[in-house]
Parts: sequence; C-alpha cells; structure tokens
Amino acid sequence: MKPKSPVQPNLLGRINERQVLRSLLFSGACSRADLTRLTGMAAPTVSKAVESLLLAGLLEENEPAAGFGRPAKRLSLTSRNAQVLGFVIDKDRCRIVSSALDGAINPALTREFATPERYETLLDLAVSNAHTLIEREGIKTEGVGISVPGLVDYRNMRGVLSPNVPITNGKSPAADLQERLNIPCVMAQEEHALCLAERLCGSAKGMSDFAMLDVSTGVGLGVMNAGRPLLGHSGLAGEIGHITVELSGAVCACGNHGCLETVACDSALSRQISKRLQQPVSIEHIVEMVRAGELTIDAELRSLKEYLAVALAAVINLYNPALLCVYGRMFELDAGLFDAVVARARQRALGPSSADCNIVLARGSKRQGAVAVIVEHIVDGIVPEEAREAGSGLPGLQAAGGPPGGVL
Ligand SMILES: [Zn+2]
Repeated sequence: MKPKSPVQPNLLGRINERQVLRSLLFSGACSRADLTRLTGMAAPTVSKAVESLLLAGLLEENEPAAGFGRPAKRLSLTSRNAQVLGFVIDKDRCRIVSSALDGAINPALTREFATPERYETLLDLAVSNAHTLIEREGIKTEGVGISVPGLVDYRNMRGVLSPNVPITNGKSPAADLQERLNIPCVMAQEEHALCLAERLCGSAKGMSDFAMLDVSTGVGLGVMNAGRPLLGHSGLAGEIGHITVELSGAVCACGNHGCLETVACDSALSRQISKRLQQPVSIEHIVEMVRAGELTIDAELRSLKEYLAVALAAVINLYNPALLCVYGRMFELDAGLFDAVVARARQRALGPSSADCNIVLARGSKRQGAVAVIVEHIVDGIVPEEAREAGSGLPGLQAAGGPPGGVL
C-alpha cells in the first residue's frame, strides 16, 4: 500500500496559492504563463491556485491592452472590490490610509487626527475614522495593519516601550481594534513595518538581508535577516537609538542621558531649532522655512551629520547588511545632506563591510509600512504558521484574537 503523504492536499494547495500571491506582490500584474515561469510550478497547478484565489476575491483578472496577436489576460492582486487599511500611530499625528492589496495607496482616502493623550481616545478616533473608509459601497476591507512607534512584544502582541507615544505601552491596539472593527488587525514595530514597505515597493524588493535605519521621531533600527526581522529574545532587538553617545548629554525620553536619538533624528533637530527660535517648530515647518530661505541651520546640520554617520557606521559594522535604507524627513532640507552623511559614515565604518553595503534613502513611507504589515499578513496567513518554512513572516505574530496562522 502506498504510504500516506505527510502533506495534506489542502495544505499543498494553500502553499501554492501563497506562491502565486507572493509572485504577484513582488513582480506586479502578470499572466498565468508568467506565473508558471516565476513560481516554477506546473501550468495546471498555477491555474488551480489562481481559480481559488479569484474565488476568494484576492485576485482580479484584467483585460489585456490591445495589441498584436492574442495577448493573455493579466492577473493582479485585487484593487476594485477590496482594500486594506494602514494605521500609522505617531508622536503628533495619526493617519489611516486605504490601499489596494498590492500596496498601492489611494491618497484621496486618507484620514488624519492629532495623537490624543489617552489610549481609549486613540481607539475611539481610530474606529470612527476607519469606519468612514470601511463603509464604502461594494468594497470589502480585508484587514488593518498598524505601525507602532516603539518596542512591540510579538509573543503577547503588546506595545512594550514607546518613549514617544507612551499611551501604547502595555496595550494591544491590534486586539482592541479587531474587537471593535471585527476585521483582522495586525501590528508591528515601525521599523519592521518600514522594512516590509521597502521590500514590498521600495529598494529592497525581493531582498532577504537588509537594514532600515529610521531617524524620524527617534532613532530606530529594523534588520531583516534571511527574510525575517531580527527580533532578539523578546522581540526587542535593534534599539540603536538608546545607546549612549554623549556621557553627560540631554535626558532622553527613555530616562537615560545622551542617547543617540537625543542628537540624531528629525525630532532632535526640531528640538534644537525650537530652542533657538524660542517657539515649537515641526520638522515639516523647518523644511518649509529652510527651502524658502527664511531659516539657516548650518551649525545644527553639521553636528547632525556627524552623529548620523556614527549611527550608519554602527549598523554597517554590527550587521553587515547588503543594503542599508535610511528613513527621515530631514534629508529634504538639503540635497547634499544625505550624500555627506553617507561619505562620513563610510569613513567611520570598517572598510570591507562598508564596501559591501549599498546605502540609500528609504523609498517607502510609514503609511506604506502599515499597509505592508497587513498585506504580508494576508499573503502569509494563507498557510498555517506550523507549516510555514523558515524565512517568512514574524515568528509568533498572529492577528490579534484571530485564528492561529495569522502571522505577518
Ligand atoms: Zn534613550
């Protein structure tokens, strides 16, 4: 008697479906023949997976553009009848955006509100704003991805420590929003979300080993190692922003003195300029004023450049990434600033590691990060977690309150 296969046909089908989704996610719209080539699967297997995904509403089939011969219909992740939402929790403003399943954000469908001082108010505002996007006629909302600016304990799906948005400490916005909105909600640390955005639609498309240095609200680091974020023992790795660079420096939001993020990020620059001008100014406002010639910040930029170079060199020396993406609004201040930081970082980093590392400005945004969290969750969540190979998704991260398998 033929031994029973340990792989159930149903599970095999799901693995094939995920392969098809991943190919469409990273390669864009293509035909069934293209999918056969991209996935290496047999044509009937591809067709079966495609039919199942069309039925589930995750794919749509588009008429080919007019041309010679008989061009094949093109398949893509659905954009007409379904959406996902990305929810960015940030220090001053929170934003909710609508996106197609391929990560294409619709800028007209954005909701924004000031970050409140109470967690319950944050939930109320998120729910009321999300409802205005969810209640669109004929559009199914597949889920919400949440980007949280602080450490996330992925085992318990809770915010652990967010010096900049402390109302999320000990809370699980994903579980709480899922309960209120009744659709899958997943959350990820901002830097991990930015990594996923860069892989979905930025410079790291299809890459497995790269790093993301986020120098916006604080200084955060996401490291993708063999396709998944490097989490450390409790998911708290990568806090480069809280290493000491000035022994008697300013008090940091974490309670220590002279942390890197007190001197090397958008918020640090805003603080310095606000102090000099004796009025609070945001990084956006600073960018506007500098561009209009109303403000000169040469001294602040000189010091910022040196500290940023220290941060970049540290990442290169510690993690030897093939690609280092840097995210921050400050680089809009001066076209030469980023190149100057990179040149200085290369002087500070170890030669061989630096030579191996491409350093670029991140192309993804926090909004795309939040969207990428839910898109990856939907694609990977097709296959149960225990059957997933190493190198996909975040271990242990499942849709809050949802069935097992909802891993990012
Ligand atoms: Zn600190």
